[in-house]
Formats: sequence, structure tokens, C-alpha cells
Amino acid sequence: MNNFEYIRPATISDAVTAASRPDAAYLASGTNLLDLMKGGIAHPSRLVDITRLPGLDRVERLPDGGLRIGTLVRNADLAHDPDFARCYPAVTEALLSGASAQLRNAATVGGNLLQRTRCGYFYDVASACNKRRPGSGCDAGDGENRLHAVLGWSKACIATHPSDFCVPLVALDAVVEIEGRNGRREVALESLHRLPGDTPEQENVLEPGDLIVALRLPAEARAFAPHARYLKVRERTSYAFAVVSAAAALRIEQGKIKDVRLALGGVAAKPWRARAAEEGLAGAGPTADAFRRAAQVALADAKPSGDNLFKIELAQRILVRTLTLAAAGTPDRIPALPASAFSSVSGALHVA
Ligand code: SF4
Repeated sequence: MNNFEYIRPATISDAVTAASRPDAAYLASGTNLLDLMKGGIAHPSRLVDITRLPGLDRVERLPDGGLRIGTLVRNADLAHDPDFARCYPAVTEALLSGASAQLRNAATVGGNLLQRTRCGYFYDVASACNKRRPGSGCDAGDGENRLHAVLGWSKACIATHPSDFCVPLVALDAVVEIEGRNGRREVALESLHRLPGDTPEQENVLEPGDLIVALRLPAEARAFAPHARYLKVRERTSYAFAVVSAAAALRIEQGKIKDVRLALGGVAAKPWRARAAEEGLAGAGPTADAFRRAAQVALADAKPSGDNLFKIELAQRILVRTLTLAAAGTPDRIPALPASAFSSVSGALHVA
């Protein structure tokens, strides 16, 4: 039994102060953290419960046309917001493809961004894991690693980031608002998570006390709504993390791609923005050849980290499929199996 303090602050500023020591952790719904504590993987000596902090559970349309989503907004509430689905359909599809209905009802926006890897050795305290215990080694290297990273990995860690939600968000240039000991700052979501390098235990750029208070989508993100998809290949049809996933958002004018955003999930320790592939597609026609070339560019630096060479080809194919479906047009209806690579392209928007 590990003892820990439990604090429920009344203000954001009190929360930041209470969490400003390295062994403290914020608690929202706890869908990941409580499992980690019960399994002996995380040992915070202080839990700072943020669930009663005022104003963090709101979704607000901003004067500039952007959207601000409080960190405590539940995944299910956001996913079932019809206005949100109309404006950011790929994000809705990603949300609805994640975890289970019960977990989505509890899980929060901020917690989703900060969930830990699902590498099995990380969760097994008898295994060597540099992320859980720096310097202990990485049993995944010679172990069961077919679902591990193919981009941005290091010898120290080959784990992937598990979030679906983050993938279209990174593609759409989402920004996180962070309250810290020195006040408020903003970080592009693309820069929030770190690649492992020699310090895989440092998963993001947050400092002790830093609290993500909101996520923002810029006004420009809405312009992609008519051509935006998120697809996910998983080993079973629900309640499974992505083997690989892709978000594609296009602006097509007069038969040409005027703007494009691409990101991949399940391939690296962070949601992976495919900028070089975006550059190659800008101004091109939305053709199968152009999409195949873009997919090759997106995975040009990929290397298997173990028994996972197949993921490089799979990621290219899922990217081509996502681009193809996005170019065909966002379906009016969120597919019955959201983010399925096998769903049809037509329907009527439905998020009730
Ligand atoms: Fe730990 Fe990373 Fe190795 Fe998994 S891949 S065992 S998380 S160091």
C-alpha cells in the first residue's frame, strides 16, 4: 500500500501550487492514472484533484472563429456534440473510435492528451523499461514489439503514443493552453509530446505544476470539414488501440488540392505530422498516384524497431485510403463503426 496525499484545490492557482513538486500528479477521471497506481507503475505522493475547478468543462466558440475546449470536457460529450462533428468531423471520428463507451463517458480531453503508452513491458513491473525506470533497459527491444514505433524511436524506447484524438488535432494545428508556476503559456499540440531519445521517461514538455487548462482549434480548421477523415486499423473492431491510424484533411478548389493536413498515429512516441507529404500534395490533383507518392514521402524515414516492418507498408496504405475517402467528401453520417477503413463513404451526419 502506497500512501499518498489527496488534495482538492478550489482554484487553478492553488492547483498549480499544490502540484509544483515532481512527485505530484493531477487527477481528473483517472482512467489511466489509477490503473498505473494500482499496478505499481506510477507512485505519486500527492494527487491534486482538478475535477471541481471552475470553468474547465466548457466548450466555447471564440470571437476569431476558433474553438476552445476545457480540459475537463468529457470525450463522450465532445464526440456527441453535433456542432463539433459538423465542424471537425475527423476529430469526432477519432474520439468515437477510442477506448469503450464507458471510458469515453469518463475520460477527459486533457487526460486523453497525456495518457501513457500501452507498451506491455511498461505495465509489467518485472520487465526492464527505461520509461518506467530510467537506465533499466528496454525489454521490448528483443521482445513482443510488432505494434511498436517505426518513426522517431531510439534504442532507449520504441513505444508509441496511444491517443486517437491527438492525431487529427495535430493535423489541424491544435494548441494547448498551459497554466504553470510562471503564468499561462501556449504550446502547439504537435510540440507537446517528446520523442524518446535518451530520456524516454520525459514524455512531454510539461514542467512540475503545469496544468493543461484548455485545447484550442484555430478558425482555419473548420475550412477542412467537407474533406476530413480519420481512419484506424486495429486488431479488433472496438476497444483497441491503433496499429496504425491516419488523419487527412483537404481543401479542394477547382479540382486541385489547395491545402492539406496529414498526421499518423500508432507509429511513434507522439502523434506524427507528415509535413513533407503535405508539401508534395499542395497544388496537385486528388489522384491515386499523388496520394501514393505522398504516403511514400510520409514514411520515407520509417525503420522497423523490431518485428514490425509491416507497419511501414500498412501506414502508407492507410494514409492513401484516408486521403481517398477525405477527397471523396466527409460523409454526412459518422459511420456505424467510426474510423473503420472499410466503411462506406456516404450517409447523413449523425452523432446523437
Ligand atoms: Fe519501456 Fe519504451 Fe521499452 Fe516499452 S519500448 S519497454 S515503454 S522503454
